[in-house]
Amino acid sequence: MSANIIDGNLLSKKLRSHVAERAAALTRQGHQPGLAVILVGDSPASQVYVRNKIKACEDVGIHSVFEKYDATLSEADLLARVEALNHDTRIHGILVQLPLPAHIDSHKVIEAIAADKDVDGFHVNNAGLLMTGQPLFRPCTPYGVMKMLESIDYPVRGANAVVVGASNIVGKPQAMLLLQAGATVTICNSKTRDLGHHTRNADILVVATGKRNIVTADMVKPGAVVLDVGMNRDDAGKLCGDVDYGPCAEVAGWITPVPGGVGPMTITMLLVNTIEAAERN
Ligand code: NAP
Repeated sequence: MSANIIDGNLLSKKLRSHVAERAAALTRQGHQPGLAVILVGDSPASQVYVRNKIKACEDVGIHSVFEKYDATLSEADLLARVEALNHDTRIHGILVQLPLPAHIDSHKVIEAIAADKDVDGFHVNNAGLLMTGQPLFRPCTPYGVMKMLESIDYPVRGANAVVVGASNIVGKPQAMLLLQAGATVTICNSKTRDLGHHTRNADILVVATGKRNIVTADMVKPGAVVLDVGMNRDDAGKLCGDVDYGPCAEVAGWITPVPGGVGPMTITMLLVNTIEAAERN
Protein backbone atom coordinates (compact mmCIF):
# COMPACT_ATOMS: atom_id res chain seq x y z
CA MET A 1 0.00 0.00 0.00
CA SER A 2 1.49 3.34 -0.99
CA ALA A 3 -1.05 5.90 0.23
CA ASN A 4 -0.63 7.76 3.49
CA ILE A 5 -3.57 7.24 5.81
CA ILE A 6 -5.47 10.21 7.20
CA ASP A 7 -6.40 8.89 10.62
CA GLY A 8 -9.74 10.36 11.71
CA ASN A 9 -9.42 8.99 15.23
CA LEU A 10 -6.02 10.60 15.78
CA LEU A 11 -7.06 13.96 14.34
CA SER A 12 -10.32 13.84 16.34
CA LYS A 13 -8.39 13.26 19.53
CA LYS A 14 -6.34 16.43 18.95
CA LEU A 15 -9.37 18.54 18.02
CA ARG A 16 -11.48 17.17 20.90
CA SER A 17 -8.85 18.08 23.48
CA HIS A 18 -9.05 21.69 22.23
CA VAL A 19 -12.87 21.49 22.39
CA ALA A 20 -12.61 20.26 26.00
CA GLU A 21 -10.46 23.29 26.92
CA ARG A 22 -13.01 25.66 25.37
CA ALA A 23 -15.89 23.85 27.12
CA ALA A 24 -14.07 24.12 30.46
CA ALA A 25 -13.46 27.85 29.93
CA LEU A 26 -17.17 28.45 29.23
CA THR A 27 -18.18 26.29 32.21
CA ARG A 28 -15.87 28.29 34.51
CA GLN A 29 -17.78 31.40 33.42
CA GLY A 30 -21.06 29.67 34.33
CA HIS A 31 -22.05 28.91 30.74
CA GLN A 32 -21.52 25.19 30.22
CA PRO A 33 -22.24 24.41 26.55
CA GLY A 34 -25.28 22.20 26.02
CA LEU A 35 -26.45 19.93 23.19
CA ALA A 36 -29.91 18.35 22.89
CA VAL A 37 -30.29 15.24 20.74
CA ILE A 38 -33.73 13.99 19.73
CA LEU A 39 -34.25 10.47 18.43
CA VAL A 40 -37.62 9.29 17.12
CA GLY A 41 -38.07 5.54 16.63
CA ASP A 42 -35.66 2.68 17.22
CA SER A 43 -33.46 2.34 14.16
CA PRO A 44 -30.41 0.41 15.45
CA ALA A 45 -28.01 2.51 13.34
CA SER A 46 -29.49 5.80 14.61
CA GLN A 47 -29.28 4.56 18.20
CA VAL A 48 -25.56 3.86 17.77
CA TYR A 49 -24.92 7.30 16.19
CA VAL A 50 -26.84 9.05 18.96
CA ARG A 51 -25.09 7.09 21.72
CA ASN A 52 -21.71 8.02 20.23
CA LYS A 53 -22.66 11.68 20.08
CA ILE A 54 -23.83 11.76 23.71
CA LYS A 55 -20.71 9.91 24.88
CA ALA A 56 -18.49 12.36 22.94
CA CYS A 57 -20.25 15.29 24.67
CA GLU A 58 -19.63 13.75 28.09
CA ASP A 59 -15.95 13.20 27.26
CA VAL A 60 -15.34 16.89 26.47
CA GLY A 61 -17.55 18.45 29.17
CA ILE A 62 -20.54 19.44 27.03
CA HIS A 63 -23.85 19.10 28.88
CA SER A 64 -26.12 16.80 26.85
CA VAL A 65 -29.83 16.10 26.89
CA PHE A 66 -31.11 13.01 25.13
CA GLU A 67 -34.80 12.76 24.27
CA LYS A 68 -35.99 9.48 22.82
CA TYR A 69 -39.50 9.07 21.45
CA ASP A 70 -41.55 6.25 20.08
CA ALA A 71 -41.86 6.04 16.28
CA THR A 72 -45.54 6.98 16.65
CA LEU A 73 -44.72 10.48 17.98
CA SER A 74 -46.78 13.02 16.05
CA GLU A 75 -45.17 15.74 13.97
CA ALA A 76 -46.94 18.37 16.10
CA ASP A 77 -45.51 16.91 19.31
CA LEU A 78 -42.01 16.81 17.84
CA LEU A 79 -42.31 20.43 16.69
CA ALA A 80 -43.44 21.39 20.20
CA ARG A 81 -40.34 19.71 21.71
CA VAL A 82 -38.06 21.53 19.28
CA GLU A 83 -39.75 24.82 20.13
CA ALA A 84 -39.24 24.21 23.87
CA LEU A 85 -35.54 23.50 23.30
CA ASN A 86 -35.23 26.66 21.17
CA HIS A 87 -36.11 28.60 24.35
CA ASP A 88 -34.02 26.52 26.77
CA THR A 89 -31.06 28.70 27.77
CA ARG A 90 -28.95 25.69 28.83
CA ILE A 91 -29.13 24.31 25.29
CA HIS A 92 -26.93 25.84 22.57
CA GLY A 93 -27.25 23.12 19.95
CA ILE A 94 -30.23 21.01 18.84
CA LEU A 95 -29.88 17.91 16.71
CA VAL A 96 -32.78 15.85 15.44
CA GLN A 97 -31.39 12.50 14.30
CA LEU A 98 -32.34 11.69 10.70
CA PRO A 99 -34.05 9.86 9.11
CA LEU A 100 -37.40 10.56 10.79
CA PRO A 101 -40.43 8.24 10.47
CA ALA A 102 -42.26 8.70 7.16
CA HIS A 103 -45.28 10.53 8.71
CA ILE A 104 -43.02 13.40 9.86
CA ASP A 105 -41.86 16.05 7.39
CA SER A 106 -38.14 16.32 8.16
CA HIS A 107 -37.80 19.65 6.28
CA LYS A 108 -40.47 21.14 8.53
CA VAL A 109 -38.70 19.86 11.65
CA ILE A 110 -35.29 21.16 10.56
CA GLU A 111 -36.79 24.57 9.73
CA ALA A 112 -38.33 24.64 13.24
CA ILE A 113 -34.90 24.50 14.90
CA ALA A 114 -33.65 28.00 15.76
CA ALA A 115 -31.01 28.72 13.09
CA ASP A 116 -28.48 29.76 15.76
CA LYS A 117 -28.88 26.35 17.48
CA ASP A 118 -28.79 24.33 14.23
CA VAL A 119 -25.43 22.64 14.91
CA ASP A 120 -25.99 20.19 12.03
CA GLY A 121 -26.11 23.19 9.67
CA PHE A 122 -29.10 21.81 7.75
CA HIS A 123 -31.55 24.73 8.24
CA VAL A 124 -32.27 26.65 5.00
CA ASN A 125 -30.88 29.84 6.57
CA ASN A 126 -27.62 28.08 7.31
CA ALA A 127 -27.54 26.43 3.86
CA GLY A 128 -28.03 29.91 2.35
CA LEU A 129 -25.32 31.46 4.53
CA LEU A 130 -22.93 28.68 3.51
CA MET A 131 -23.82 29.14 -0.16
CA THR A 132 -23.12 32.87 0.03
CA GLY A 133 -19.79 32.40 1.78
CA GLN A 134 -20.79 33.53 5.28
CA PRO A 135 -21.33 30.23 7.11
CA LEU A 136 -22.72 30.21 10.63
CA PHE A 137 -22.55 26.40 10.98
CA ARG A 138 -20.78 24.16 8.49
CA PRO A 139 -22.47 20.73 8.18
CA CYS A 140 -20.39 18.36 10.31
CA THR A 141 -19.32 15.73 7.78
CA PRO A 142 -18.06 18.10 5.04
CA TYR A 143 -16.51 20.31 7.75
CA GLY A 144 -14.64 17.22 9.03
CA VAL A 145 -13.39 16.45 5.52
CA MET A 146 -12.04 20.02 5.21
CA LYS A 147 -10.24 19.60 8.56
CA MET A 148 -8.67 16.38 7.25
CA LEU A 149 -7.35 18.22 4.19
CA GLU A 150 -6.07 21.00 6.46
CA SER A 151 -4.32 18.40 8.67
CA ILE A 152 -2.14 17.30 5.75
CA ASP A 153 -1.62 20.91 4.57
CA TYR A 154 -3.20 20.02 1.25
CA PRO A 155 -3.15 22.93 -1.22
CA VAL A 156 -6.89 22.99 -1.98
CA ARG A 157 -6.67 26.29 -3.86
CA GLY A 158 -6.51 25.53 -7.58
CA ALA A 159 -6.93 21.77 -7.10
CA ASN A 160 -9.48 19.74 -9.07
CA ALA A 161 -12.00 18.41 -6.56
CA VAL A 162 -14.67 15.86 -7.43
CA VAL A 163 -17.52 15.14 -5.05
CA VAL A 164 -19.42 11.94 -5.80
CA GLY A 165 -22.87 12.33 -4.21
CA ALA A 166 -25.05 15.43 -4.07
CA SER A 167 -27.16 15.14 -0.92
CA ASN A 168 -28.12 18.21 1.11
CA ILE A 169 -26.23 16.92 4.14
CA VAL A 170 -22.95 15.83 2.55
CA GLY A 171 -22.34 16.27 -1.19
CA LYS A 172 -23.73 19.77 -1.79
CA PRO A 173 -22.23 21.46 1.31
CA GLN A 174 -18.96 19.59 0.64
CA ALA A 175 -18.82 21.07 -2.84
CA MET A 176 -19.51 24.56 -1.44
CA LEU A 177 -16.73 24.30 1.15
CA LEU A 178 -14.24 23.08 -1.45
CA LEU A 179 -15.29 25.84 -3.86
CA GLN A 180 -14.85 28.46 -1.15
CA ALA A 181 -11.41 27.06 -0.40
CA GLY A 182 -10.48 27.73 -4.05
CA ALA A 183 -10.89 24.30 -5.64
CA THR A 184 -12.40 23.73 -9.08
CA VAL A 185 -15.33 21.50 -8.18
CA THR A 186 -17.29 18.85 -10.06
CA ILE A 187 -20.36 17.29 -8.39
CA CYS A 188 -21.47 13.85 -9.60
CA ASN A 189 -24.81 12.15 -8.96
CA SER A 190 -26.59 8.94 -9.89
CA LYS A 191 -27.25 10.23 -13.42
CA THR A 192 -23.60 11.07 -14.12
CA ARG A 193 -22.39 9.44 -17.33
CA ASP A 194 -18.98 7.76 -17.05
CA LEU A 195 -18.19 8.48 -13.38
CA GLY A 196 -14.57 7.38 -13.85
CA HIS A 197 -14.00 10.08 -16.48
CA HIS A 198 -14.62 12.65 -13.74
CA THR A 199 -12.97 10.90 -10.79
CA ARG A 200 -9.74 10.27 -12.72
CA ASN A 201 -9.34 14.04 -12.99
CA ALA A 202 -9.65 14.56 -9.22
CA ASP A 203 -6.75 15.74 -7.08
CA ILE A 204 -9.27 15.62 -4.23
CA LEU A 205 -11.92 12.91 -4.44
CA VAL A 206 -14.76 12.89 -1.88
CA VAL A 207 -17.11 9.94 -2.14
CA ALA A 208 -20.51 10.01 -0.41
CA THR A 209 -23.05 7.77 -2.09
CA GLY A 210 -23.78 4.84 0.23
CA LYS A 211 -22.77 2.51 -2.64
CA ARG A 212 -20.05 0.07 -1.65
CA ASN A 213 -17.02 -0.09 -4.01
CA ILE A 214 -18.45 2.56 -6.31
CA VAL A 215 -14.90 3.89 -6.67
CA THR A 216 -12.34 1.33 -7.84
CA ALA A 217 -8.58 1.75 -8.27
CA ASP A 218 -8.80 2.46 -12.03
CA MET A 219 -10.99 5.50 -11.20
CA VAL A 220 -8.39 7.17 -8.96
CA LYS A 221 -5.74 9.61 -10.19
CA PRO A 222 -2.28 8.52 -8.98
CA GLY A 223 -1.35 10.54 -5.88
CA ALA A 224 -4.89 11.87 -5.28
CA VAL A 225 -6.41 12.46 -1.84
CA VAL A 226 -9.35 10.08 -1.45
CA LEU A 227 -11.85 10.87 1.30
CA ASP A 228 -14.43 8.16 1.85
CA VAL A 229 -17.63 9.31 3.56
CA GLY A 230 -19.66 6.17 2.83
CA MET A 231 -20.83 3.82 5.55
CA ASN A 232 -21.90 0.39 4.34
CA ARG A 233 -21.68 -3.22 5.46
CA ASP A 234 -19.67 -5.79 3.50
CA ASP A 235 -20.78 -9.39 2.95
CA ALA A 236 -19.37 -10.36 6.36
CA GLY A 237 -21.33 -7.53 8.01
CA LYS A 238 -18.20 -5.43 8.62
CA LEU A 239 -18.37 -1.63 8.30
CA CYS A 240 -16.90 -0.39 5.00
CA GLY A 241 -16.96 2.72 2.85
CA ASP A 242 -17.83 3.54 -0.76
CA VAL A 243 -14.25 3.14 -1.95
CA ASP A 244 -12.57 -0.18 -2.81
CA TYR A 245 -10.03 0.58 -0.11
CA GLY A 246 -7.06 -1.81 -0.60
CA PRO A 247 -6.59 -1.38 -4.37
CA CYS A 248 -7.35 2.39 -4.21
CA ALA A 249 -4.73 2.80 -1.48
CA GLU A 250 -2.16 1.44 -3.98
CA VAL A 251 -2.88 4.37 -6.30
CA ALA A 252 -3.85 7.29 -4.04
CA GLY A 253 -1.39 9.58 -2.25
CA TRP A 254 -3.66 9.93 0.79
CA ILE A 255 -6.73 7.96 1.82
CA THR A 256 -9.21 7.80 4.70
CA PRO A 257 -10.11 4.36 6.09
CA VAL A 258 -13.59 3.16 7.07
CA PRO A 259 -13.96 2.81 10.01
CA GLY A 260 -11.63 5.35 11.61
CA GLY A 261 -11.75 8.05 8.94
CA VAL A 262 -14.50 10.58 8.28
CA GLY A 263 -16.93 8.99 10.81
CA PRO A 264 -15.20 10.16 14.01
CA MET A 265 -14.55 13.56 12.40
CA THR A 266 -18.31 14.08 11.91
CA ILE A 267 -18.90 13.76 15.65
CA THR A 268 -15.89 15.94 16.42
CA MET A 269 -17.20 18.74 14.23
CA LEU A 270 -20.59 18.46 15.94
CA LEU A 271 -18.77 19.19 19.21
CA VAL A 272 -16.93 22.11 17.57
CA ASN A 273 -20.21 23.55 16.25
CA THR A 274 -21.81 23.23 19.69
CA ILE A 275 -18.90 25.06 21.33
CA GLU A 276 -19.05 27.78 18.66
CA ALA A 277 -22.81 28.16 19.29
CA ALA A 278 -22.23 28.45 23.04
CA GLU A 279 -19.38 30.95 22.61
CA ARG A 280 -21.52 33.11 20.30
CA ASN A 281 -24.29 32.98 22.88
P1 NAP B 1 -28.02 10.07 0.11
O1 NAP B 1 -28.87 11.16 0.63
O2 NAP B 1 -28.62 8.75 -0.19
O3 NAP B 1 -27.32 10.62 -1.22
C1 NAP B 1 -26.54 9.79 -2.01
C2 NAP B 1 -26.00 10.58 -3.16
O4 NAP B 1 -25.20 9.71 -3.95
C3 NAP B 1 -27.10 11.13 -4.09
O5 NAP B 1 -26.78 12.44 -4.47
C4 NAP B 1 -27.06 10.18 -5.29
O6 NAP B 1 -27.39 10.78 -6.51
C5 NAP B 1 -25.59 9.82 -5.30
N1 NAP B 1 -25.37 8.55 -5.99
C6 NAP B 1 -26.02 7.38 -5.79
N2 NAP B 1 -25.58 6.46 -6.68
C7 NAP B 1 -24.64 7.07 -7.43
C8 NAP B 1 -23.83 6.66 -8.50
N3 NAP B 1 -23.92 5.42 -9.01
N4 NAP B 1 -22.97 7.54 -9.05
C9 NAP B 1 -22.87 8.79 -8.56
N5 NAP B 1 -23.62 9.25 -7.53
C10 NAP B 1 -24.50 8.40 -6.98
O7 NAP B 1 -26.80 9.76 1.06
P2 NAP B 1 -25.98 10.71 2.10
O8 NAP B 1 -26.84 11.02 3.25
O9 NAP B 1 -25.31 11.80 1.35
O10 NAP B 1 -24.87 9.66 2.57
C11 NAP B 1 -24.00 9.05 1.67
C12 NAP B 1 -23.18 8.00 2.40
O11 NAP B 1 -22.42 8.63 3.42
C13 NAP B 1 -24.00 6.93 3.14
O12 NAP B 1 -23.28 5.73 3.12
C14 NAP B 1 -24.09 7.45 4.54
O13 NAP B 1 -24.28 6.41 5.49
C15 NAP B 1 -22.73 8.05 4.67
N6 NAP B 1 -22.61 9.11 5.69
C16 NAP B 1 -21.53 9.02 6.50
C17 NAP B 1 -21.31 10.01 7.43
C18 NAP B 1 -20.11 9.90 8.29
O14 NAP B 1 -20.05 10.51 9.32
N7 NAP B 1 -19.09 9.13 7.87
C19 NAP B 1 -22.20 11.07 7.56
C20 NAP B 1 -23.28 11.14 6.68
C21 NAP B 1 -23.46 10.16 5.72
P3 NAP B 1 -28.85 11.42 -6.82
O15 NAP B 1 -28.80 12.79 -6.21
O16 NAP B 1 -28.90 11.43 -8.30
O17 NAP B 1 -29.86 10.51 -6.17
